[in-house]
Amino acid sequence: MDPVTLPWNDVGGFLRRQFGGRVSKVLVNTGRPCPHHVSSGGCVFCDEESILPSYLRSSLPVAEQVRRGIETRKRRSAIAGCIVYFQRGTYTAAPVEVLRREFEEALAVDGVVALAVGTRPDCLPTPVIELLAGLAKRRPLFVDVGLQSAHPETLDRIRRGHDAADFESAITRLAALPGVLPIAHMILGLPGEDAPMMRASFRWIARLPLHGVKIHHLQVVRGTPLEDDYRAGRIQLITQEDYVPLLADVLEELPADFVIHRLAGDQPAPVLLAPRWTWSKHQVRQALTKEFKRRDTRQGARAGGC
Ligand code: SF4
Repeated sequence: MDPVTLPWNDVGGFLRRQFGGRVSKVLVNTGRPCPHHVSSGGCVFCDEESILPSYLRSSLPVAEQVRRGIETRKRRSAIAGCIVYFQRGTYTAAPVEVLRREFEEALAVDGVVALAVGTRPDCLPTPVIELLAGLAKRRPLFVDVGLQSAHPETLDRIRRGHDAADFESAITRLAALPGVLPIAHMILGLPGEDAPMMRASFRWIARLPLHGVKIHHLQVVRGTPLEDDYRAGRIQLITQEDYVPLLADVLEELPADFVIHRLAGDQPAPVLLAPRWTWSKHQVRQALTKEFKRRDTRQGARAGGC
């Protein structure tokens, strides 16, 4: 599929334009748990360990993890560089000097063209914002911030521990920093939400100064609080047939220039309880292209409308 013809602003094209070729992501695991998990049991869908590949479950120094990651990517294919992604938990919830040291270790490795961090809206105090501002002057810095839904009753139900206003405030502060590219994490199919509610959440984020969005479908991971709800029949999960039309619905609400970094969840099979349907990235892209063609619309078709 020619990425130029995709009816949404796909991350692959964005990265090629930004970095002059194909770039790969290298994950880093610092081993620090998410403070929201420690203090309140965490979000009901989350298993911090499951999102990391098993080879990362080690205590290697950051620089060594980055070096190994880059070597592995280079053995697989020619790349223009790597984005180092501090993904685990809520990365910015650490003393600023620890963060600075880890960032510097990553930046010292040849081939690192950008940095990325994952965080929560309530874990961006001023010293961290100042650190991110300095780093972003040297390399593009993607900052992934979880929201998942703009509806307060949903945020309560999934135990996010913050509200949509906290998210808006975090995104506004991040977007004011040159070189920082804020990304929203959103989940489709959260308990109690129907299609109009999901569309409304995307309409709500569409007005924020975001660089892009990562979209997941709700997946039940073994050992999470959501497993109990699923086994007790208290939640309904999105079917494979319903997913792509829903995806097209929400993408229509977003401005055409928001970069779409992810189109579906991809929890690994051993930890995934439900739904058991899976799609490769290629399959989702094909199905979504077909759906947009059927509708004769694309990302942004409803953005800015009433
Ligand atoms: S804030 Fe993120 S890492 Fe922490 S429990 Fe929620 S989803 Fe997991």
